[in-house]
Amino acid sequence: MSKVRHLLGISGGKDSAALAIYMKQNYPHLDIEYYTSDTGKELDETYQLISNLENFLGKKIIRLTGANNSSAPTPFDHFIKIYKGYIPSTNARWCTKKLKLEPFEDFVGNDPVISYVGIRGDEERDGYISTKSNIQSIFPFRKNIWSEDVISKFFANTNIPLVEKLYIENLLGDKSARAIEIICTKISASFNQQQKLTQLLDLGIKEFNSAVFEFIKTTNYPLAIEENFPLVCNEDILVRADIFKLLEDSGVGVPAYYKEVDFEVNGKKGSYARSRSGCFFCFYQQKIEWVWLYEQHPDLFAKAMEYEKDGYTWIQDEPLTELTKPERILQIKEDFIKRSERPDKVKSPFLLDILAEEEEEGCASCFI
Ligand code: SF4
Repeated sequence: MSKVRHLLGISGGKDSAALAIYMKQNYPHLDIEYYTSDTGKELDETYQLISNLENFLGKKIIRLTGANNSSAPTPFDHFIKIYKGYIPSTNARWCTKKLKLEPFEDFVGNDPVISYVGIRGDEERDGYISTKSNIQSIFPFRKNIWSEDVISKFFANTNIPLVEKLYIENLLGDKSARAIEIICTKISASFNQQQKLTQLLDLGIKEFNSAVFEFIKTTNYPLAIEENFPLVCNEDILVRADIFKLLEDSGVGVPAYYKEVDFEVNGKKGSYARSRSGCFFCFYQQKIEWVWLYEQHPDLFAKAMEYEKDGYTWIQDEPLTELTKPERILQIKEDFIKRSERPDKVKSPFLLDILAEEEEEGCASCFI
């Protein structure tokens, strides 16, 4: 049987970069292959981050482009030509498919793969989970490092006797009676999977992980091939502040586009930044981020405008020529200040959280 490959995708954002640093610092013996799916349309700050990371990791980050041997200047340009100028959108996200997912799945082939994903302990979402059975995702920053598909199999009511046996083998001392009680309680309308998961993790993360790992050995998941998996003992939970600290302390640095830039409009002060990595023209960005691009990177904004032809636009119903009208920019800035001041926005003091919260989930394989 093939050897398990350990992969970590660098999106150009803070979380995947911090995960690469974290894995090198905490699991130096894991032979991790780092890769990035390069659309050719990232901000310079992203390419700088990747170069800094390569220095820190002491190894190359493999570039996947999805458009090898193309005569087009960038992988994105290669595909937009094939799509006859059709600008991708949330409803027609050909860019993610062609520039991220397909190159990744080609890179993996049929090898059994563990894919480490940088979703943080303070996020309520699952990342991209491959539909290919040879790719298994692990989330080292979360209390629950396992993907949803593994957890739902582990907790299937039909597996209760097996899971009970695995827990008994991983004795929990004085906690074992309570653990068995939880395990033997069936998932039902009054006791859902999340409650069961939370209660068992609260009782002991290592014991839970050991039982899941032993359970996986009875399945076809890639990890079933491994004798040991060091992350079974991982009890770390990393949240937003930890990510910035890892980036700063390691010397890799925080990508410059996260830095807030102050602006003033009609006597009111505000600040803007970019909330995520990804292509500079990404259609997931908010209007205030488009304004940021226009004012902070006018050359890139002009390039984004060049794609708007034949009726195709990056923002539905608002071509970039409209967005750059002075009165429209003022309005976008004013609206943004107003939204930032709303009482429900004081949950987080960070502009990036406000920006990210207002977006839809976005493209996990582009932004993590
Ligand atoms: S960053 Fe945005 S535009 Fe670029 S590939 Fe991802 S979803 Fe598409």
